[in-house]
Amino acid sequence: MGMPQRFDLLVVGGGVIGLSVAWRAARGGLRAAVMDPAPASGASHAAAGMLAPVSEVAYTEEPLLRLGLASLDRWPSFAAELAADAGREAGDLDYREGGTLDVAFGADDMAALEEIAAFATGLGLPARRLTGRECRRLEPMLAPSVRGGMLAERDAWVDPRKVTAALLTALERRGVTLLRTRAAALETSAGRVTGVRPATGGTVGADRVVLATGAWSGGPGGAGAPAAIEGLPPGILPPVRPVKGQIMRLRSPEPILGRCVRGTVHGSHVYLVPRADGELVVGATQEEMGFDTRVTAGGLWELLRDARELLPGVTELELSDAVAGLRPGTPDNLPVIGPAGPPGLWLATGHHRNGVLLAPLTADLCAGDGDPGLLKICSPLRFQEHR
Ligand code: FAD
Repeated sequence: MGMPQRFDLLVVGGGVIGLSVAWRAARGGLRAAVMDPAPASGASHAAAGMLAPVSEVAYTEEPLLRLGLASLDRWPSFAAELAADAGREAGDLDYREGGTLDVAFGADDMAALEEIAAFATGLGLPARRLTGRECRRLEPMLAPSVRGGMLAERDAWVDPRKVTAALLTALERRGVTLLRTRAAALETSAGRVTGVRPATGGTVGADRVVLATGAWSGGPGGAGAPAAIEGLPPGILPPVRPVKGQIMRLRSPEPILGRCVRGTVHGSHVYLVPRADGELVVGATQEEMGFDTRVTAGGLWELLRDARELLPGVTELELSDAVAGLRPGTPDNLPVIGPAGPPGLWLATGHHRNGVLLAPLTADLCAGDGDPGLLKICSPLRFQEHR
C-alpha cells in the first residue's frame, strides 16, 4: 500500500451507510477514509429507496418507528446538502414526498391496514383510510379489485443508486480517501483499535474505525460466507445475517404511478416505486438463503405475478434490470450503531429493510449528533450482554 496512512476516521464498507457516515464526518472537518473493494455494489445497489417508516413498520415495532421518523425528518436537508456537495441539482437524487399507498384486496388485508392506521394515528401520524374508489382516484392504473387502502402521507422515496453516486462524488470533492481494497484485519494496540490491515497489505491507521460492512458484519458464517475480518475480540460482532431480496426495474415512457404503492398478495408483500423518468421498481423477495445472490426465474415470477394484481398494466413494461441484494438482518430488526467495546471501534450496521431510510440518522449518530435515547436503542452492547 506504499506510504503508511493515518486518518481521524476510517469507515470499512462503502454502502449507503458507510458513505453517509464518512461524508458527515468530512463535513464536520475530520480526515476520513472509506475502505471497500466494490463501493455502492451491495444491498444499497439493490434497494428500492422507500423512505416509509409508517407503512413499513408493524405496529409492535415502536422503537424502529421512532428511528425511522427521526431519519425521515432529516431526509430533506440530507438530500439538499448532498446534491449541493456533489455539484448536482436539488432534484437529481429523485427524492420525493408523496406518501405510500398501502392497498388491500380482502377482508383480512383491510383489517391489518385498519390496525396499522389506528396505531399510526394514535401516535399522531397522518394515515388516511381510503375506499377502493378513492385509491383509484389517486392512482387510476390500480386494479379494480383493490378494495381499500391507507395513505401514509408523510412517507417519501429516493433513488438509492443516485444517492450513493452523489455520496462518492461528494466524498471525492471533500478529499476523502477511497481505498478500493478489502479490510482483512483490525489492528489493535493495548486493547485499543488503531487501524485496519487491508487485504493488499500494509496498515491504515485511524483514531476511530467504523465497521459498516452490511450483511458481511456478522463474523464467520456458514458455507459461502466471505472471509471475516480478523483481529476482533470474540463476541464483538453482532448477530447480523444476510436476508436476500430480489428486485426488478421496469421501464415505461411515462411514470404510471404518482407515489409508492404496496400490497399483500397471496400472503407476500409487493411494492412499486415510481421514478420521475418512468422507471418502476418492483420489489422485493425476502429469502433466508445465506450469501446467495442469484436472480431466479421463480423470484421474478412471484414479483411480477403479485405486481400484476396491484397494477394490471405492469406486464406490458420493458424489463430493464433485475438484481438480488443482501439486507443486513438482526434478530430484533433494529440497526446496530455505536461504540462496540474496544476503544476506537464503532459499528454502523444491521439496517435490514431500512438502511436507505436510516442513513441520515446513522450518519448523525456516528458524528455524536442526535438523541442519546435513539443511540441507546441501537447499542451493539444489547447483543454482547446476552452472550
Ligand atoms: P451494503 O450496501 O451492503 O454495503 C456494505 C459494503 O461493505 C459493501 O459495499 C461491501 O463491499 C463492503 N464490505 C463487506 N465486507 C468488507 C470488508 N471486509 N472490507 C471492506 N468492505 C467490505 N432500505 C430502505 O430504506 N428502503 C428500501 O426501499 C429498501 N429496499 C430494499 C430492497 C432490497 C431488494 C434490498 C436487498 C434491500 C432494501 N433496503 C431498503 C435495505 C437497504 O438496502 C439496506 O439496509 C442498506 O443498503 C444497507 O446498507 P449498508 O451500507 O449497511 O450495506
